[in-house]
Amino acid sequence: MPNNDLIYANCGSDHIVINDTIHNKKHKYQCQTCQRQFVPNNSKVYINYQTKELIDKLSK
Ligand SMILES: [Zn+2]
Repeated sequence: MPNNDLIYANCGSDHIVINDTIHNKKHKYQCQTCQRQFVPNNSKVYINYQTKELIDKLSK
């Protein structure tokens, strides 16, 4: 079970882990699929898993 509801929009993976905490106390995440790190401070980077499911339903 994933430890959160994040999907990394760049590759669609939900294998996201908290990788580090940066200076302003925001978490830095890492996608375990493509090993990229990102800060989920930008709505273009990730979407909520339920939002993704909704989008999938609407797009069918
Ligand atoms: Zn990835």
